[in-house]
Amino acid sequence: MTSSLAPDAETLVIGGGVVGLAIAAECAIAGQETYVIERNNAIGQEISSRSSEVIHAGLYYPAQSLKARLCVEGRQRLYAYAKDRNVAFRKLGKLVVATSPTEAETLNKIAEKAKINGVDDIRFMDAADIHALEPEIAAVKGLFSPSTGIIDSHGLMQALETDVTDHRGTVVLGTAVRHVRRRPDDLFEIEMSTGCEIANVTARNLYVAAGLGMGELGPRLPRAAAYTPPPLYFARGHYFALRGGRPFKRLVYPVPVEGGLGTHLTLDLEGNVRFGPDVQWIDRVDHAFEEDNGLRLRQFEQSIRRYWPSLPDGALTPDYTGIRPKTSRQGEPARDFEIHGPKDHGIPGLVALYGIESPGLTSCLAIAKYCVTLAREC
Ligand SMILES: Cc1cc2nc3c(=O)[nH]c(=O)nc-3n(C[C@H](O)[C@H](O)[C@H](O)COP(=O)(O)OP(=O)(O)OC[C@H]3O[C@@H](n4cnc5c(N)ncnc54)[C@H](O)[C@@H]3O)c2cc1C
Repeated sequence: MTSSLAPDAETLVIGGGVVGLAIAAECAIAGQETYVIERNNAIGQEISSRSSEVIHAGLYYPAQSLKARLCVEGRQRLYAYAKDRNVAFRKLGKLVVATSPTEAETLNKIAEKAKINGVDDIRFMDAADIHALEPEIAAVKGLFSPSTGIIDSHGLMQALETDVTDHRGTVVLGTAVRHVRRRPDDLFEIEMSTGCEIANVTARNLYVAAGLGMGELGPRLPRAAAYTPPPLYFARGHYFALRGGRPFKRLVYPVPVEGGLGTHLTLDLEGNVRFGPDVQWIDRVDHAFEEDNGLRLRQFEQSIRRYWPSLPDGALTPDYTGIRPKTSRQGEPARDFEIHGPKDHGIPGLVALYGIESPGLTSCLAIAKYCVTLAREC
């Protein structure tokens, strides 16, 4: 496939998760011949299929951060896209609840941040308002976000894949990228393997949205001598499903904890309730559900009963896990999305995405637009 005259692909995207597919769709729709290279045999098998599927409003993130800007823009674009493309979603609204005066103070800070971030529809609730909305929830104060919702993330990825293939793009599955070189003619040469076969492909623009694979791939990308790619750390989150009954109509979140948003209550599109994810720092990618001799279940029950005191014994059952790609270590302040373009690593036409944890699903369409702009920088 390698050519010395013209690239095999104008644009190549490494990673067929929601972010890689959104970037590829943006490029393909703009008329670029686009390839997506995905190591698994299906799209969206890693982070993107293990999330809470929440469309976040943009409450929590530091002002002017990429997370804040891309979440607010991405949420608006995602609702419009889902409606247009018949991807299932529901704007259920979310309650962030405080169970003590100290937590109520934290709610005030979240509300301030949300307003700065342009989330202009939130409102405070007292215990009676909360009881009227969700009778099972006990809290001293709440913040209600009407623009938070849920989405069928698989349906979204399928719609994005269709956007790619309907615009002369190609999604190549079961193919892992091993190395990338920058050639003297300014094309990228991408070495990939499919089982025991190795192939080289050239591309003019390269987007690297490899999620949990960025720790290995980042150091193998071309870069200026002064640039070091960010390291990657992993924080696994476990979910428990609620057996029997669907006593909630909205999403319910406690105030955030270090590394995550707290053991929250989310609903799927059928109304099934699940709780999680918790935060467990791990050394390598491993999606196993670690029960920890029942300790994890007890910790979940304890956290949930702070805002849902009547959670019945034995109602929770282990469900699934997801792993957050982090660019900060345990104990360090959370970092922003790290989306590096030519001004960072010195290579025109290359954009590499690190630490695309939550709200990456909400932000995917805005991330895609942002990446395409970055790639044009010199
Ligand atoms: C537990 C959890 C809950 C979350 N909840 C939410 C939520 O409610 N709302 C929200 O907005 N966000 C949420 N997120 C964040 C969101 O899910 C992610 O930001 C988003 O899915 C990341 O998509 P991605 O495409 O970057 O990664 P991925 O979906 O992991 O895609 C990367 C792809 O790259 C492929 N790949 C890796 N290396 C290579 C290689 N060398 N060659 C070829 N292919 C390669 C992988 O196989 C993978 O398919 C959550 C995340 C987690 C972990």
